[in-house]
Amino acid sequence: MKNVKKIFILFCAVLLLTGCSAQETNEKNEQTETAEKTANTEQTKNDPEIQTEDSEDEGETETETETKTESETESETESETETAEQTAITEQNPKEDETTDTAETITAETETTERKEQIIVIDPGHSGVVAEGSEPLGPGSGEYKAADASGTRGVSSGVAEYALTLTVSFQLKEELENRGYTVLMTRESNDVPVSCVQRAEVANTAGAAAFIRIHANGSENQSVQGAMTICTTPQSPFVPGLYESSRSLSDCIIGRLCEATGCVSGGVWETDSMSGNNWSQVPATIVEMGYMTNPDEDMLMQTAEYQAKIVQGIADGVDAFLGYE
Ligand SMILES: [Zn+2]
Repeated sequence: MKNVKKIFILFCAVLLLTGCSAQETNEKNEQTETAEKTANTEQTKNDPEIQTEDSEDEGETETETETKTESETESETESETETAEQTAITEQNPKEDETTDTAETITAETETTERKEQIIVIDPGHSGVVAEGSEPLGPGSGEYKAADASGTRGVSSGVAEYALTLTVSFQLKEELENRGYTVLMTRESNDVPVSCVQRAEVANTAGAAAFIRIHANGSENQSVQGAMTICTTPQSPFVPGLYESSRSLSDCIIGRLCEATGCVSGGVWETDSMSGNNWSQVPATIVEMGYMTNPDEDMLMQTAEYQAKIVQGIADGVDAFLGYE
């Protein structure tokens, strides 16, 4: 029996030992698996193909920072800054341009629309047929003046004032229409008599934004030259309320006219002796383009080139007066 017991005990001992070793093996296997998994996980993290974009960027940044020298970093930083600035400018400019373009487009459209609603009346001074009779100097005036005058004549060119004024007026009409205005003329031929009151009535009936009266000057002194504009005075017994606007129109036109032509400026002459101005119920000015009694200025005013400058200057003055600049 003792042997049997021993054998049993031995058997149990063997069983125990075997069992323990088996458990250890399992544990070892588990550890190996965990280690392998860990290794796999780490490998996965290090696999560049599986990296996310974020980690890729970080990795690149770190690597670059490590490998760059200071000077390289500085120069690159500078170039990056420049590039960033350029990009900012490039991005900013198109936006500004777009905004500006849009604003300009809107402004231009608005201006054109507004201008089309505004009427400019051009009055080519005098005529080949002088209106007969006389008219009151102004509304309610007991003083009478000739309905019109024959005007002056070019001392060198021999051209009559009424012919020059009509020529320039046609060009001015075209220029102002190109700028969007509606333009009416008090006469379109040299064969019709038109009195000063009739001329003013064209502007009044139209409700013109400006009444531009085109003339050329004359003097006994042939050396006198230059342009001037003429409007009523603040003390006008006829249209005191129009002084400011007529003076402004006169200032704008003489300024731009002399700028465009380079001629001598005679400034603005304020007088209440011009019946056409006195009868006007809208801002009015007489534009004396130059002296036909000055040989040089007379010949100059006959050239297409100088006429174009005159037209440009007057139109610029109208634009300035109406706030389109
Ligand atoms: Zn005249």
